[in-house]
Amino acid sequence: MSQRFQSYIDGQWVDGSGSTADENPADLSTPVGEYGVLDAALAAQAVEAAATALPAWALSTPQQRADLLDRVGSEILARKEELGRLLALEEGKTLPESIGEAARAGQIFKFFAGEALRIPGEKLASTRPGVDVEITREPVGVVGIIAPWNFPLAIPAWKIAPALAYGNTVVFKPAEIVPACAWAIAEILSRAGLPPGVFNLVLGAGRTVGQALVEHPRLDALSFTGSVPTGNALLKQAAARGLKIQLEMGGKNPLVVLADADLEVAVECAVNGAYFSTGQRCTASSRLIVENAVYDDFVARIQARLATLKVGDPLQPGIDIGPVASQAQLDTDLSYIRAGHDDGAELLFGGERVEYRTQGHFLAPTLFAAKPGDRIAREEIFGPVAALLRADDYAHALALANDTAFGLCGGICTTSLKYATHFKRHAQVGMVMVNLPTAGVDPHVPFGGRKASSYGPREQGRYAVEFYTSVKTAYTAA
Ligand code: NAD
Repeated sequence: MSQRFQSYIDGQWVDGSGSTADENPADLSTPVGEYGVLDAALAAQAVEAAATALPAWALSTPQQRADLLDRVGSEILARKEELGRLLALEEGKTLPESIGEAARAGQIFKFFAGEALRIPGEKLASTRPGVDVEITREPVGVVGIIAPWNFPLAIPAWKIAPALAYGNTVVFKPAEIVPACAWAIAEILSRAGLPPGVFNLVLGAGRTVGQALVEHPRLDALSFTGSVPTGNALLKQAAARGLKIQLEMGGKNPLVVLADADLEVAVECAVNGAYFSTGQRCTASSRLIVENAVYDDFVARIQARLATLKVGDPLQPGIDIGPVASQAQLDTDLSYIRAGHDDGAELLFGGERVEYRTQGHFLAPTLFAAKPGDRIAREEIFGPVAALLRADDYAHALALANDTAFGLCGGICTTSLKYATHFKRHAQVGMVMVNLPTAGVDPHVPFGGRKASSYGPREQGRYAVEFYTSVKTAYTAA
């Protein structure tokens, strides 16, 4: 399979310049395809097309938008195997995980089809006699969407679907290494009956195409998911020009295992949370904090479980961990493995590349016994590399869990209602899991974090209305 993926501007497919290979990270000898990158001028044209399409789309009926999003959701669900295959090929997630992600993208479009019909408003009694007060929500305008590569179907879906549901127009810029998944979404939207300019896809580099969106005066809001450095740079630019912005960034998520935990459950939570999807999840359990009394038992069990995991081609049955998504991410992972050794952490499992029959970015699941100050225990790695920390007791474990700049997700494995309840209240995160992996969330409830992990209103569920609408208060003399 070799295909050239194009951008989509004002209802037309647009080729960019040059040809950038779309790599298959499990087999570098057979790329998924190629794509041309846009320049800043073409990206600006996409924003202008979205601005031109905005007034009519903002006044479209909720039913029109609901029907359209429902059709998109139905098509994604009907084609989830095929879309999942494309995702597995391009990003390296295993096929079952990829099909699951495609299904989730479809469910998200269906959820927001319903939300288009439930746009909330309020009518209150005025403090003044003879006056009515109404609070309504209107589209925020032209929305820029900048997405990472690790959930190349679900993250675009959870931004594009609410943006369109609430009457906004969209310019979507995916990460450079996943043009095929972005193109697949655009291709479905291109046949769904949207007026030209309502949805636009711009393929290209962050610093040209992404920057052109942020700098364009007609852009009204920007929803970004990606790394902390990029997010923080965008936040400064947005503040300077008064752009509404929402940022979902990194994580260094703790999974606490208490002495009273069911250790079988705890090991499964740890392995799933730290290593599935090759550890490339913002919600990955990259810090495993285990109470002293069960530490040795936990280590023996997780080592035995890790030894059963198969790393390889994500399309093959029985593979648990696909390749790292890119050479750049593999280099980062390997540099953190070196940092683990340099900081004196003890390697408990993995730590090296895996030889496979194809040439790809395969890396063994890696576990270090670390100290809280080690770089591998503090910085987001975004690969199959986890740090194990020893805690004296629950209070110490909670303190370690909160001892991080990040605050996306936190988990605890315990059979104690007392500790579970306390952890739910005192973990400094946006999402808490009890006896579940830190990764793996529902599509219909809010998603997001605290501290350095997130900025602005929550994504997903009905809370998405905060970002994608602007509130208006109207007074009428009765
Ligand atoms: P990244 O920051 O490198 O890139 C994200 C996006 O920003 C890409 O589309 C990129 O092209 C674009 N970009 C880069 N520089 C830009 C610039 N100067 N101006 C405008 N756009 C620019 O992140 P990544 O490597 O693609 O993704 C991994 C990161 O995403 C990890 O830190 C991970 O934790 C985070 N992430 C967070 C969540 C969450 O919801 N909290 C979910 C998934 C991933």
